[in-house]
Amino acid sequence: MNNQDFTERLKHALGEDRLRLLQLVVEEAVHLGFPLYVVGGSVRDLVLGRPLNDFDLTVEGDAIALAGALRAKHGGGVTAHTKFGTAKWFLPENLKAGHDTLDLVSARSETYRHPAALPTVKSGSLEDDLRRRDFSINALAVRLDGSQFGDLRDDHNGLRDLQKGIVRVLHSGSFMDDPTRMYRAVRYEGRYGFRIAEDTLALIPNARPLVEKLSAQRIRHELDLILDEPHAVSILKRLDELDLLSAIHPVLANFQRSHLASAQLEEPVLQNRNSRWLLWLMHLTDQEIEFLNERLHFTAELLKMLRSAALLETNLPELMGRKPSQVVQLLEGYSIKAIEVFSIALQDESLRSILNKYLSEWWGIKPKTTGHDLKKHGVPPGPKYNEILRRLRAAWLDGEVKSEEEEKKLLKTIL
Ligand code: ATP
Ligand code: MG
Repeated sequence: MNNQDFTERLKHALGEDRLRLLQLVVEEAVHLGFPLYVVGGSVRDLVLGRPLNDFDLTVEGDAIALAGALRAKHGGGVTAHTKFGTAKWFLPENLKAGHDTLDLVSARSETYRHPAALPTVKSGSLEDDLRRRDFSINALAVRLDGSQFGDLRDDHNGLRDLQKGIVRVLHSGSFMDDPTRMYRAVRYEGRYGFRIAEDTLALIPNARPLVEKLSAQRIRHELDLILDEPHAVSILKRLDELDLLSAIHPVLANFQRSHLASAQLEEPVLQNRNSRWLLWLMHLTDQEIEFLNERLHFTAELLKMLRSAALLETNLPELMGRKPSQVVQLLEGYSIKAIEVFSIALQDESLRSILNKYLSEWWGIKPKTTGHDLKKHGVPPGPKYNEILRRLRAAWLDGEVKSEEEEKKLLKTIL
């Protein structure tokens, strides 16, 4: 990638407005005498010609001072973490162009006091900053300021690995320092169709027991990121083959048993993380869901859905041979998302079609009569209201009434 080429790629990936913003940052960095780089995944995706979803800028110097200078000149606001040397510039209106903020990070070194600990951070050189990274393909930087614009910094043969399609750690202690990297490695493998280098792969067995030391939040975050990937299914299969799912919790072993293993992720119902979680775990018992929750601390919303799905799975057979109104009554308490996911995952054709009917028609059918109407008819307020409205709804659902007139007639007889 020569400079000309890099400029073109940058323009293409960022668009005119973002590029102009970048120009302002470069100007200020030059003014303060701080070398400025685009680093990490952004460089990787630029080289691969993939769209950039974020843009990581690193300063060899004080990122907080740089952000302060930018705010002083162009407006907006700044928040900073002095401990990490990072700053967020809240952009003024005229510079926003689709993004509200710009992150600026000071180059830093990271060391680990013990395996799987959070790193100790110190400010450092770009060399330090590249050395702390997970994989060679993520340890690239391109200089943005001054006459060295476009110069690629590749201390770890990242470009070679990128061209060969290889995910490689930078040193043999890498997975011990941070076991989440094993999950990241498999995620990149799946996303780009790369493979993990043999010597990197050989480091997994020794680091596997350390997965236990990761907090719920850290491990769940990695799984969330995996589920967001278009190739989530093959990534999870591969993790299972490497015994990295059972390392999180034994109930996750044997991924092939899961409904997710045979899913088409393009399905509209599956375009969000929680549906994918549901599909992955819905074959587990409610007890297993509780065990897993102790390890992963699901969000309240997801946990509710998972519990609902576990219960629904046990009660599904009851739906067979029921009238629509009975099906509605049985399904009413369950999470609608869980029902949606079941409706695509069930093997049993007739059960699936009952759920589809519920979702597409029955669920939305309501009587025309309201509580207000009942009051006008002089019904005294109380549980009777609900009972009557249910009775009317059931009549619509089961085809007993087909028009407003017929509903009124039925209401009269009830009253
Ligand atoms: P994605 O497209 O998934 O966002 P990314 O490379 O941008 O990929 P981020 O998680 O956004 O990944 O992290 C940005 C950069 O920070 C990475 O490219 C990598 O250099 C570094 N990094 C992230 N997580 C780790 C980690 N656990 N250990 C070491 N370096 C990491
Ligand atoms: Mg990123």
